Amino acid sequence: MEVDELVRGVLARERRSVARAISAVEDGDADLESLSAGLYPRTGAAVTIGLTGAPGVGKSTLAAGLVGAARTRDLPVAVLAVDPTSPYTGGALLGDRVRMQEHATDPGVFIRSMATRGHLGGMALAAPEAVRILDAAGYERVVVETVGVGQAEVDVAAATDTAVVVLAPGLGDAVQMAKAGILEVADIFVVNKADRDGAPEVVRELRQMLHLGAARDWDPPVLTASASQGEGIEELWEAIESHRDHLAASGALAAKRRSRLIREVESLAAERFRLRAAEALRADPQLADELEARRLDPYRAAAMLASRAAE
Ligand code: GDP
Repeated sequence: MEVDELVRGVLARERRSVARAISAVEDGDADLESLSAGLYPRTGAAVTIGLTGAPGVGKSTLAAGLVGAARTRDLPVAVLAVDPTSPYTGGALLGDRVRMQEHATDPGVFIRSMATRGHLGGMALAAPEAVRILDAAGYERVVVETVGVGQAEVDVAAATDTAVVVLAPGLGDAVQMAKAGILEVADIFVVNKADRDGAPEVVRELRQMLHLGAARDWDPPVLTASASQGEGIEELWEAIESHRDHLAASGALAAKRRSRLIREVESLAAERFRLRAAEALRADPQLADELEARRLDPYRAAAMLASRAAE
């Protein structure tokens, strides 16, 4: 009954319900399954945008700009700031930031930072569920901002329709990004802080690196912006819309979303299986003794655990 009420509140885009539902995802609540079951049929309409890049490049400022761009078009918009590595940082970190204040009372805007405390499989699995809550709540654009540039952040950003990679002069060069595998997942590049020295060099370096990469059917544009001055935001918005239209026209959007879902379900199932295998191992302490005494080999032990976990 309580979950039904939460589902109703999310679908009615009640701020408190949306916030509670996202907390349930963070915590890996027992109610999560029924919450997800109630909301899932009402998802699929939102366009999701990933913003990733080194700390300080201006992701939050750009996110605030995109919120403004969405609101001029009367589109409900949400920003989810995801921190895959650090422990819980406490509530609406991002919402407290001054530049987001102007949207604080706008019912068409929802801003929230999240970390995981108990969700099975960590942020890579928690973030997509949080995005679906925002989707079900009717936010037509969902911006997922990641805090760092590690593998977990790349995974989270890659799980959106359009992944935007942000750079700025002096902060995280293109070579580093290539090493992190970030260039491959980018659909759009933004060199922010174009008001600073060194921006044209970053653009040039990036274009050279992209030139070396494999040809794709979508050439990621390299844009420039001065987010703190509101410059380049409209161009970014347009590029995001063009990318989405490009994907939709070729059928790639549906294919991308489908394979994303399949991968997610596979990971969720694998997480469950892993837990059951660990449980089976705990239930049979002798197995470790047998292993240690060389009477049982690791492969046979794994096969035994796998079959017990599947029971
Ligand atoms: P994030 O860590 O990537 O989210 O970066 P923030 O959006 O928090 O921005 C980091 C700092 O850079 C803040 O002090 C911003 O005001 C500033 N900043 C953002 N965009 C620009 C810009 O275009 N030019 C300049 N000079 N500073 C900017």
